Amino acid sequence: MTKKIVLLPGDGVGPEVVRESRAVLEQVGRTFGHTFEFSEHAIGGAAIDSHDDPLPKSTLDACQAADAVLLGAVGGPKWDDPKRKVRPEQGLLALRRGLGLYANLRPVRVHPKLASASPLKADKVEGVDILFVRELTGGLYFGQPRLREQRDGKVRAVDTLEYTDEEVRRVVRLAFRLAGPRRKRVTSVDKANVLESSRLWRETATEVHKEFADIALEHQLVDSCAMRLITAARSFDVIVTENMFGDILTDEAAVLAGSLGLLPSASLGDGTNGVYEPIHGSAPDIAGKDIANPTGTILSAAMLLRHSLGLTAEAEAVERAVDDVINSGARTADMAGAGGEALSTSAFGQRVIAAI
Ligand code: ATP
Ligand code: MG
Repeated sequence: MTKKIVLLPGDGVGPEVVRESRAVLEQVGRTFGHTFEFSEHAIGGAAIDSHDDPLPKSTLDACQAADAVLLGAVGGPKWDDPKRKVRPEQGLLALRRGLGLYANLRPVRVHPKLASASPLKADKVEGVDILFVRELTGGLYFGQPRLREQRDGKVRAVDTLEYTDEEVRRVVRLAFRLAGPRRKRVTSVDKANVLESSRLWRETATEVHKEFADIALEHQLVDSCAMRLITAARSFDVIVTENMFGDILTDEAAVLAGSLGLLPSASLGDGTNGVYEPIHGSAPDIAGKDIANPTGTILSAAMLLRHSLGLTAEAEAVERAVDDVINSGARTADMAGAGGEALSTSAFGQRVIAAI
């Protein structure tokens, strides 16, 4: 089977972590007998430099023609000047829009061997395995009107939180589907005691639940969910929520794992194509030093195998290899606080390849 994978290394540590992940995918190809056809394209700051555009048309065209997209990171101090009209992050937003992606998946697991790096108490770490499904296209980030004006001698600013039932239905349906092969529990997070959009969210989730008789659904208010992530994180399976609640809760949950460098993500829509990337940014402070942790990107490649290519055994082989390498005591610098030997980005990648 030949599959087309587009690589978007981007900025900062992006090229370093994508290079290791490509090598991991090549090993999967050799081990399982698949042909992956890779092509690399510019995005973000690198694309502003080369094409004056954070998402050149050639990049979008390649991504639309691909089976899946693996991205490193975009942004960095070089392009941070607020006076700039084009910014690296716009490339990522345009890519998601161009591929019709509306759900961001972020699995958060706490590896038992890295438990000492987690802020969770030792007795609350075991079994933490959460899949966040965050709505990506609606809510406060995109609602209209959005304005600032002078009125009666005061400055007034407005943002709008808007959702349609259809937007809620498609992302909640995806969350139920993803819960099937997991522990079959969905927590839908809202603020239905205050917000009309949340009341629509809750009603719609309850209605969609009728299609999924074998999955349990609970509703939770966002404030109490934020607390429960610290007090009882292992009681969650799949959490589905709107754009801004998801932004905040997933950053909170990311801390539980002990390092930003460990966690993968996927952005999906109705088709099988998706964009896979680590949750961390371009990490300019460590770029070019071969010390970045490639785990988040390698696990993103595993998600790519599972969700876009339908290769479940292959995805599990990558995840097991990462677990084995961490169990063996191998670490990158950011994980070294938890004890063990600190390897370079490429040496850690080589260990994962050997374990596959
Ligand atoms: P963004 O604005 O793109 O969200 P950020 O400001 O959240 O980025 P990151 O670039 O993610 O910041 O970096 C935050 C901190 O985490 C930095 O100190 C960085 O070095 C560290 N970090 C991020 N990714 C990794 C990684 N893969 N390995 C090791 N350390 C990392
Ligand atoms: Mg950030």
